[in-house]
Amino acid sequence: MHSVNLTGDKEEPPSCLRWEVLKEFHPAGKGFWTDVSDTDWNDWHWQLKHRITTVEQLQRLMPTLTPEEFAGAALANHKLALAITPYFFNLIDPADENCPIRWQVIPRVQETHTAPWEMSDPCGEDSHSPVPGLVHRYPDRVLFLVTDRCAAYCRYCTRSRLVSNASGYDFHPEFDRQIEYVRQHPQVRDVLLSGGDPLLFSDEKLEYLLDRLRAIPHVEFLRIGTRIPIFLPQRITPQLCGMLRRYHPLFVSIHSNHPRELTAEVRDALGRLADAGIPLGNQSVLLRNVNDNPGVMLAQVQKLLMCRVKPYYIYQCDLIAGSAHLRTSVRKGLEIMESLRGHTTGYAVPQYVIDAPGGGGKVPVNPDYVLSRNADRVVIRNYEGRVFEYPEAADGTPLVAAPKEIEEPELV
Ligand SMILES: *Cc1c(COP(=O)(O)O)cnc(C)c1O
Repeated sequence: MHSVNLTGDKEEPPSCLRWEVLKEFHPAGKGFWTDVSDTDWNDWHWQLKHRITTVEQLQRLMPTLTPEEFAGAALANHKLALAITPYFFNLIDPADENCPIRWQVIPRVQETHTAPWEMSDPCGEDSHSPVPGLVHRYPDRVLFLVTDRCAAYCRYCTRSRLVSNASGYDFHPEFDRQIEYVRQHPQVRDVLLSGGDPLLFSDEKLEYLLDRLRAIPHVEFLRIGTRIPIFLPQRITPQLCGMLRRYHPLFVSIHSNHPRELTAEVRDALGRLADAGIPLGNQSVLLRNVNDNPGVMLAQVQKLLMCRVKPYYIYQCDLIAGSAHLRTSVRKGLEIMESLRGHTTGYAVPQYVIDAPGGGGKVPVNPDYVLSRNADRVVIRNYEGRVFEYPEAADGTPLVAAPKEIEEPELV
């Protein structure tokens, strides 16, 4: 059996890193909130209203808070807000300082340590924004930001300059202007709703946007980027799915980083979206201490397929200010990609990308499988390291065999 081991030595890995444990679909359950009724617990409004948003609440629920976390949480409301849904909070292991869930949502004081190469807008979105809330970087598609709110806040958020409105960015999407821009640009055939999290909107408000976008003849394809299925699976109601299915082709990209996030509740929520005919993709961010481990990532991508989700992208962590403690190397990312391709289902293998610092868009980065190109062949290796040759001319034309000599027909 695969065993997953952070240290690479031969010892038995801790139970949270055992393959069987990573692959299991546990229910998160009510955990700390056993007294709450099922109706309340399963009501997404109840979950939002009872989010953990202050250092005092955090300390009460988790006396094992480290000094770094305490200091980070105390500062959080001056920058990117602290918010964790009760459902997601139950996935934290309070006894484990290195819990991968904990690192993603509990602030640390290291968020205040910034380096000159870090940025508040690492992907250069503001400089590609023709109207507020719209990013038009690629020729045929736009990123349409609908809100600055999320169900919970990821500490490495690439849009923390505007998300939760904590740093005075004063984000105000202007739907009329955003929609008008799309209407006047016939090359835009793909609109990606994101934010903040679009699924925080009521069904009615979201439908209003989808309706207006669908009314534009050149908009072929709609998608929603959301972490709600992971932070708040209760939001994925049959009513929401029934509404979304009227706007096909509509894809949903979720954001999940660790197999422990893929609970029984999440699997059911994703199943409801898939049953509404919505193709699902996942975007992961490569994070130190969370998923910078080939075994963890292998369990993650296989579990995603079991949730009917195609792993879409793995992002190198953007150079967001104060994220050094969560970033890991490109070398590590390449090692993870190497450990996936060929070793598991092709559908399970995402594309590893770096969103080019300063605003160049997503750049694919891949392990090298082409070893050399010669005058008459390309030399390649496979996932096991075995070397093969593919014959072709240096200019890329197929090699053509010299014509066989045609014998004169004999006259009888
Ligand atoms: C990621 C992104 C998109 C979508 O890119 P795909 O590769 O098509 O998924 C579009 N616009 C912006 C600004 C983006 O960052």
